Amino acid sequence: HGQPTDVAIETPDRAVHIGQNHPVVTIAGPCSVENEEMIVATAQYVKASGAKLLRGGAYKPRTSPYAFQGHGESALGLLAAAREATGLGIITEVMDAEDLDKIVEVADVVQVGARNMQNFSLLKKVGAQPKPVFLKRGMSATIEEWLMAAEYIMAAGNPNVILCERGIRTFDRQYARNTLDLSVIPVLRSLTHLPIAIDPSHGTGRAEYVPSMAMAAIAAGADSLMIEVHPNPAKALSDGPQSLTPQRFDRLMQELSVIGRAV
Ligand code: PEP
Ligand code: MN
Repeated sequence: HGQPTDVAIETPDRAVHIGQNHPVVTIAGPCSVENEEMIVATAQYVKASGAKLLRGGAYKPRTSPYAFQGHGESALGLLAAAREATGLGIITEVMDAEDLDKIVEVADVVQVGARNMQNFSLLKKVGAQPKPVFLKRGMSATIEEWLMAAEYIMAAGNPNVILCERGIRTFDRQYARNTLDLSVIPVLRSLTHLPIAIDPSHGTGRAEYVPSMAMAAIAAGADSLMIEVHPNPAKALSDGPQSLTPQRFDRLMQELSVIGRAV
């Protein structure tokens, strides 16, 4: 497999590189973009703590059709405002190919969520656009299926794929939402040149377990982390229980800096 893939992300501030030969890149922000004030404030907080990219969902894949579905197109405008205000690059999820063009206008990285990992027509379309793709592992996907999903994107012409482990289906939901499979870090390293990201927020579903899993991910060699941060987790419209406060996130970033490739 030769040289490691170096994914270069153009952000207003600078080019951010995700790959084995670069410092760990932390992506942080709320599960959902709720309003302008909260997304801009969260962006400022996570930037001050060292995050290089802002995450935030406009289109949300919710289990229940009655749950908050994201603010859609108007949230893309709010992400653009946060990008402008902070200089952070933006990553947001595409659920439907119909929305891809307008997402690509705002996003510096396009996220394909766990539930769409094998949506082959969507994979071909994100492969045919120029922005890097953050491909989350399906909740019951094998490594082979995940790598083949990445192949769909690359075969369509886009070599800039980041693989993100976000926890797999667990039999014990009493203590964690998913089982975060950190063993994929050495496994993927032996199989692929693509960068490896870990999402301990969805991986555990509980804010109190996020810091230790983030530290373990860095110790095991992850190239990037995705962490949910909300200014008031108790009031979050989605994924509050797994979201860190800005203060806890800041402390985590300091803890991480002593573990591995400078965060
Ligand atoms: C998310 O990042 O908010 C998300 C919905 O992630 P996943 O696709 O991993 O569930
Ligand atoms: Mn979420």
